[in-house]
Amino acid sequence: MALKRISKDHVIYKFMPAMRPAEKAHVGDIVVFETKDCFGEQIRDENVKLSEIDWSKINPATGPLFVEEAESGDTLKVEILNIRAENTAIMAVVPGAGILGNLKYESKIKLLKVKDDTVCFNSLKIKGKPMIGVIGVAPSEGEYPTGTSNRHGGNMDVAELTTGTKIYFPVFVKGALLAMGDVHVVQADGEICVTGAEASGEVMVKIDVIKGKQPKYPILETKDYYAIIASGVDLDEAAYNATLEAVNALMREYGYSFEEAYMLASLIVNLRINQAVDPKKGVRAEIPKNYIRLSSLFH
Ligand code: CA
Ligand code: ZN
Repeated sequence: MALKRISKDHVIYKFMPAMRPAEKAHVGDIVVFETKDCFGEQIRDENVKLSEIDWSKINPATGPLFVEEAESGDTLKVEILNIRAENTAIMAVVPGAGILGNLKYESKIKLLKVKDDTVCFNSLKIKGKPMIGVIGVAPSEGEYPTGTSNRHGGNMDVAELTTGTKIYFPVFVKGALLAMGDVHVVQADGEICVTGAEASGEVMVKIDVIKGKQPKYPILETKDYYAIIASGVDLDEAAYNATLEAVNALMREYGYSFEEAYMLASLIVNLRINQAVDPKKGVRAEIPKNYIRLSSLFH
């Protein structure tokens, strides 16, 4: 086992099949990714004009990491050992962005102090729950800007992707090419105004590979459940994709017909909104662990 560190000088803005590795690792290695906030550290005070920042430097993802044992058809397992965020977080509201982006309001930036894992919002103290917004591997083909999401992962903004969780990615190219960024000190499901409490930070992960099988979409594992992380052009399509894969997984687990698995899904599968504000919207289907094994989520 080795401990490696990738500095935030190594960033990508697109997930692509051919990316030059910033570092290499083996199964069992622990890797620290230093990450920049989603604004590329361009906002250091509340008077910065959003129109004046370089929008080509938005959503940097640190990496990619080449995993020696990972090949197309495998699964990359990433265990989130720790997420550390800096003690100032940035929020922005932008006319045209977020769920209520059609309304008339001003562009605004707000810096929030973070003290003892708590975010200070005016006089309110909000419990921090650091999570990673952008995390993914190389897709099989094409280019996916780090601001969007798909089967390779990307800007999924899943509030539950926190310390102690695990995430499984389908591997499409040799080495998998893992990259991540966009830490939020805290974010609620939906990411309503288009930003969480955005901060630079560090993410420590442990790397593993499962050979010869893979899930269709990234799978999140918590203590209690597995969640299928799907996306779509709107929330309806994202919910459809997450549900279809959940029903397929229940058919594999129990050998049920579609009809029976569809009924069971209605009783035990929780659909949650990841975010409703990015170019692709995200929904996850959570299946409690007492009803499904990880192997049934794989093809
Ligand atoms: Ca994000
Ligand atoms: Zn973010």
